[in-house]
Amino acid sequence: MTLASFISSGTSHAILNGLAFFAFVLWLSLGYWTYKDARRRIEDPLLVGLSTLVALVLPFVGPFIYMLFRPPEYLEDVRERELEIKAIEERISAVDIRCPVCHAEVDAGYLVCPVCTTKLKQACVSCGAPLEPIWQVCPYCETPIEPAVPGTPPALGTRRARRASRR
Ligand SMILES: [Zn+2]
Ligand SMILES: [Zn+2]
Repeated sequence: MTLASFISSGTSHAILNGLAFFAFVLWLSLGYWTYKDARRRIEDPLLVGLSTLVALVLPFVGPFIYMLFRPPEYLEDVRERELEIKAIEERISAVDIRCPVCHAEVDAGYLVCPVCTTKLKQACVSCGAPLEPIWQVCPYCETPIEPAVPGTPPALGTRRARRASRR
């Protein structure tokens, strides 16, 4: 059998059809795989669509190109890591807040140290929320915070007296 007669024979047609079908299925599978993988790695739906389009428009080469440029991590892993970092930061900052007098651990919301009764923060005159020393206004009720009178030490007695006299 010569090559020419083999090519025109029915057997070769069946083989070619089979190969074409296999290539077609592989092309679709790779496109689907790219879509699935992109969705796990990329947040922007537009970029996910673009990745899938590249995988389908450039058969077999497209998914390979996508693999070169895809984000190295799954979104889940990134989110999980960010949560872990946040939890660690919160733990560190929670440990960091200590009473300046007795060094007991105190909460950010404490007005006085529960151990040695040192005044830690000024309370908002309107809503009673604990205020940071650098704040100009209460973030909870928008009441302006009066700055400490210059010349007088920011002692607790002074503040208490001022507030009492205002009442
Ligand atoms: Zn204390
Ligand atoms: Zn307030």
